Amino acid sequence: MISRKSREEIKLMRHAGHIVALVHQKMKEVIEPGISTKELDEIAHQVIRENRAIPTFLGYQGFPGCICASINEQVVHGIPNENVKLKEGDIIAVDVGATYRGLVGDSAWSYAVGKIDEDKQRLMKATEEALYAGIDKMRIDNVLDDISGAVEDVANSYGFGIVRQYGGHGVGHNMHEEPFLFNYRVGDKTIIKQGYAIAIEPMLNLGGDEVSVADDEWTVSTVDGKPSAHFEHTVIATEDGPLITTKLME
Ligand code: MG
Ligand code: MG
Repeated sequence: MISRKSREEIKLMRHAGHIVALVHQKMKEVIEPGISTKELDEIAHQVIRENRAIPTFLGYQGFPGCICASINEQVVHGIPNENVKLKEGDIIAVDVGATYRGLVGDSAWSYAVGKIDEDKQRLMKATEEALYAGIDKMRIDNVLDDISGAVEDVANSYGFGIVRQYGGHGVGHNMHEEPFLFNYRVGDKTIIKQGYAIAIEPMLNLGGDEVSVADDEWTVSTVDGKPSAHFEHTVIATEDGPLITTKLME
């Protein structure tokens, strides 16, 4: 069953999402050549703690970090590591979750490290565009396939690969709730109702669709070794349209 969030739950999700947005604001400031993904993880942990929230990812199915840090051909679920330092020209996707009074915010963003090439610029632009195209379909009485199709159409217009094995998901008291949301059309006619909360998260590849999991059992990378980008917001369907919870509150 897909839960419908109450007014109170939405309030707490916005608070959790605000904290996630604060982490991303900080990431944008500190990401530069030379910093390790472990340092990024520690900075994220500090922001979450200072705001009296819990890092949702830490310990989730045994995951050892507060963020997932996925560089270049890595798609998602990269483990923070003191020996992995960012280099000029990299792109890094940082995914982070915060739980505030039991409610979760989940958001990922891809960042350029210094100056990046045109291919990576286009990939990041397309993936962010796909995210917002999807968000715009998160409206009462639309169906889930409307979101999936909007993401797919943007990816196709750029000729980029779409990661098939991972996708968006319901979010609320748990990071992963029903429904699963594909990033391409599957014919899911589930009607979106007021109060549904979904993490919409396109993962697009410069090359083909195929990805595989590393021996660490977490890190997902493209099979052809080409770069991948990931953008994600937690979004609630409201009477006033899509409400992005994972942004800074005014
Ligand atoms: Mg996420
Ligand atoms: Mg997610």
